[in-house]
Amino acid sequence: MTRLTQLISIALICIFPHSAIGDDDHNPVGDAVEALPIFDAHMHYKEPAWGPYPVEDVIELMDKSGVAMALVSSTPDDGTIMLWEYAPKRVVPELRPYHGSAGAYNWTRVAGMEDYLKGRLAKFPHRGIGEFHIHSISMWNERLFQSIIDMARERDIYLHVHSGTEAVRWLYGLDPDVKMIWAHAGLGVPANNVHKLMSEFPQLLADTSLREHSILSDDGSLDAIWKKILFDFHERLMVGSDTWVNGQWDNYEQIIASNRAWLRHLPRELAENIAYKNAERYFGREITMDLIGTR
Ligand SMILES: [Zn+2]
Repeated sequence: MTRLTQLISIALICIFPHSAIGDDDHNPVGDAVEALPIFDAHMHYKEPAWGPYPVEDVIELMDKSGVAMALVSSTPDDGTIMLWEYAPKRVVPELRPYHGSAGAYNWTRVAGMEDYLKGRLAKFPHRGIGEFHIHSISMWNERLFQSIIDMARERDIYLHVHSGTEAVRWLYGLDPDVKMIWAHAGLGVPANNVHKLMSEFPQLLADTSLREHSILSDDGSLDAIWKKILFDFHERLMVGSDTWVNGQWDNYEQIIASNRAWLRHLPRELAENIAYKNAERYFGREITMDLIGTR
């Protein structure tokens, strides 16, 4: 850095102490990222995992990766409950609608879905409904979603929605106050449009699971648009692993490491928010490394 740019950045920090956090000179958390607990906001414990990865093994993988707590949803919901009953301190349960023949493409049209969801919510303390998919406009079953929004509002819990931008807008159209976590920040949605949607809806939260390779460029630096998303919305993002197939469990430690690999580029405050502090606020739980080794 030249003497002049140094002087200019010092002057800017004096004039704009808060916006200075966006400055490249603001120290990234670096190696200290390893000591941060992680809240995994996108975990599934689906039936094919129950045999090869019994509950003790799942908690052990979390321990090895410094994952203090996870938001868990499963097909069927029994997987979530099994893991939550084994390790209630480590699991925030979330109700996934999928069970029996109800899956990602047809669940909004399955008879009895509303009663199924009501029954499970009455029985267990789920803190969200999801992760569910809204793949296309044909799944916009307004009557069912009104009822799901009512269930969520009554319990003050989140919807965890895997969809493109249009379904998010549609859901806010049904209820502008619905609490929503956008799964994978839209997955296939280009970063520019992620930024646009999150600007448009200041209450929209998102998990960044499966996005780690877009966030970090090939040269090992943060992608420019993603950097803007992370800096602008660091109070609304969480990381996630998405253990949707057993291959993700096989690689669990690497997946969490690949998330720390981009978090390390952020200033401490931002890295802490995205790693676990936002989840503390959203779910009213205390998340510390002391949870490692407990259940
Ligand atoms: Zn998922």
